[in-house]
Amino acid sequence: MFLYLSACDRTPKGRTDTPIPGILLGQEGPLGRSIRVLLADGLQELGVKFVGSVDIVDSVSREVLESGVSLPELTFIFDESGIQGIEINRNFESPSIDLVFNESNSIAVQLPDGLKKYRGKLRLVREDEGRSLVVNILDLETYLIGVVAAELQKSFRKEAFRAQAIIARTYAWYQKRRYGKLREWDVKASEGSQVYAGLEREKLVPQARRAVRDTRGLVCTWTSPEGERIFCTYYSSRCGGTTQASGPVKHEKVIAPLAGNVICWYCRRHPYSWESVRIEKSLLTEQLRDRYQKFNSIGPIDDLKVWSETSAGRPVMLSLIDSEGQAIELEAENFRLVVDPSGRMVKSTMFVPMVEDDAIILTEGRGFGHGMGMCQYGANDLAKEGWKAGEILRYYYPTSRLSRAYE
Ligand SMILES: [Zn+2]
Repeated sequence: MFLYLSACDRTPKGRTDTPIPGILLGQEGPLGRSIRVLLADGLQELGVKFVGSVDIVDSVSREVLESGVSLPELTFIFDESGIQGIEINRNFESPSIDLVFNESNSIAVQLPDGLKKYRGKLRLVREDEGRSLVVNILDLETYLIGVVAAELQKSFRKEAFRAQAIIARTYAWYQKRRYGKLREWDVKASEGSQVYAGLEREKLVPQARRAVRDTRGLVCTWTSPEGERIFCTYYSSRCGGTTQASGPVKHEKVIAPLAGNVICWYCRRHPYSWESVRIEKSLLTEQLRDRYQKFNSIGPIDDLKVWSETSAGRPVMLSLIDSEGQAIELEAENFRLVVDPSGRMVKSTMFVPMVEDDAIILTEGRGFGHGMGMCQYGANDLAKEGWKAGEILRYYYPTSRLSRAYE
């Protein structure tokens, strides 16, 4: 399955500072070369299949709690008392345990959307109120193969694959450094970060492995007064004709590579439109109140107006208004994610809202994804014309350059 959306994670709850525009190259800190990928949260039960044996280790103290468990399958249940290993008849009270596989190069994890295969180790985290996190920890370069394979179509050109590998690496490195210390994971395995589909997809798209290997250690940087900085390389599937600046959407300081307004000739020649989406006002009110506390302070949503838009006509800020005329502004990108978290109906923020009695209709939808940074279809088109990965990236992230973060 080709997945389309990529957005840098929203600032974690409770943080209101403006994100710094980049991480100085060479000052990434002693974080190691691994990445923690959030596979699932909120599970009550997890099944894992593997070959060989597994050690179960306390994630914090590194104490080995069980050594050389050799069963083909293990089931864990998360509850108030701990993480229960059913087959081994043991309750782990530690809030976080690692499953370190000794021989298995491929582990199968039963997730809500099916059995998925991964490499590396698994971390099971029990949070307050029985909540759980399942995190895959693996080498960053190995992780990138699964991302690049999931993010591009098999038919895309080699230089588009290389460009994708470089921005996926840059994105992951940035997220890890910027947010990793604040939480138990660095990136999500879904569109919330960048799609990571694990081993099955890797086999279907062999170009991904080559692209990651050919670009090993390369990241996108821009030159700040203090030196080269790794920035958050947002990217999307089809930008709709003109890329969007990240500043107003993400409340970040504008930097040249993410200032938007890059013309994408492919998307202009091949406009991608999507069907109108009807949203009941009552459901919209519920969704907004669930996600944002502030929407409890006004009445049910009755009207929607575009508060600001880009020069290309893409709404940036929306005004959501109750029947008394009280309004709350919300980023169009966040509005889209609230009404359609999958991004498969409201495919971008390039739409024209029409207000009816009971519903709001998003019409004239164009583009796929948030439109910030590299456009994947546009990049593939440039690759067809003979552009190299570095040239494609400098086009979509103006003034940026390629730097080597590690050998
Ligand atoms: Zn485009």
